[in-house]
Amino acid sequence: MNFELTKEQEMVRDMVRDFAQAEIAPHARELDEKHEFRKESFDKMAQLGLFGIPFPEKYGGSGGDTISYALAVEEIGRACGGTGLSYAAAVSLGATPFYNFGTEEQKQEYLVPMAQGKTLGSFGLTEPNAGSDAGGTRTKAYLDGDEWVINGEKCWITNASYARQVVVTAVTGQNERGKNIITAIIVPTDTPGVTIRSDYKKMGVRASNTCEIILENVRVPKENVLGDEKKGFGQFLNTLDGGRISIAALSVGIAQAAFDKALKYSKERVQFGQSISKLQAIQFKLADMAMEIELARNMVFKAAWLKDNGKPFKKEAAYAKLFASEMGFRTCNQAIQIHGGYGYMAEYDVERHLRDIKLMEIGEGTSEIQRVVISRQLGC
Ligand SMILES: Cc1cc2nc3c(=O)[nH]c(=O)nc-3n(C[C@H](O)[C@H](O)[C@H](O)COP(=O)(O)OP(=O)(O)OC[C@H]3O[C@@H](n4cnc5c(N)ncnc54)[C@H](O)[C@@H]3O)c2cc1C
Repeated sequence: MNFELTKEQEMVRDMVRDFAQAEIAPHARELDEKHEFRKESFDKMAQLGLFGIPFPEKYGGSGGDTISYALAVEEIGRACGGTGLSYAAAVSLGATPFYNFGTEEQKQEYLVPMAQGKTLGSFGLTEPNAGSDAGGTRTKAYLDGDEWVINGEKCWITNASYARQVVVTAVTGQNERGKNIITAIIVPTDTPGVTIRSDYKKMGVRASNTCEIILENVRVPKENVLGDEKKGFGQFLNTLDGGRISIAALSVGIAQAAFDKALKYSKERVQFGQSISKLQAIQFKLADMAMEIELARNMVFKAAWLKDNGKPFKKEAAYAKLFASEMGFRTCNQAIQIHGGYGYMAEYDVERHLRDIKLMEIGEGTSEIQRVVISRQLGC
């Protein structure tokens, strides 16, 4: 067993770390305060080829692996949780479904520009009444001649204001057992009848763009189905398995940022005539935080390695997402504790990390749903 990163993986990590600390981290607090998505950061990430890391060169990517991609997500998330979320969503949820399920024509039309970072794509599964129970989707589509006509509503969709297209799930019929057939349909965001609003007031990940999408008699060509018309729901679940690795990596990045600040602060803060890092109570907190971050990072690498080697990774992706997000919450909380009252203030950033990390326990399947996925994998 080899725990060393390859030269290429190290290069990606170091390049993204340098870039993210120089270009993304300095803006993080302001973007959080203003609830602002910084398009400029995404343009620079595109120039560096970050959107194409896990895709082959023939589709505009750089032919890297999932481990390299996870390292990139971790480093962007370490610099800014919201920017990290939008980056991870753009690659794992926006582009990957086209790579996994698209026709050759759809790959050329949609995946290539996304992998090159020229366009963004969104993943529209969640609805006001269908969250964890995504199979309860109420958006409907029917064929009228050569066009799908779609009506419905999606909520909390990442990057939609900046996306060229959204892949939405819609009920398109019933199977022989009377169950809904759910189809994934590509909807260009400039299609008449599509309304996208982004006026949520969020607790955290505020540098990420989060949208409501209304679909009113939206017409798209029949061939805009992504993958198998009858298996859209299964495809979305498969997409989420991969996405969970990136949410786990993002959790590690946010936790690492909180830890770095807590360690630094503990050495600077003097109480009772010595720096608080000399107090065993503080040392033990830092030791636990460092250990848990390392463990979560290893879980991310293992899930990514399994995926890269064509092995089943559903359970390990859920392990990694569940552990890393809950670990991240504990770590950010302890980082505030180590900062005392200063940690409660925005200027020390650790309260932002706690607000950002909370989303990781909710998005792409809540912690409870991860436990459902794991217990099913265990055969319960
Ligand atoms: C900032 C942000 C960005 C997002 N981006 C996207 C996106 O790009 N695309 C997209 O499609 N969605 C997106 N989402 C939606 C996200 O995936 C959902 O919020 C999530 O899946 C949970 O659904 P819900 O919020 O409706 O919660 P609910 O499903 O209503 O759950 C409420 C509570 O009940 C629990 N619960 C529900 N069912 C079970 C069960 N069977 N067993 C045990 N407990 C259960 C949940 O764990 C939770 O604690 C985003 C959400 C946010 C906040």
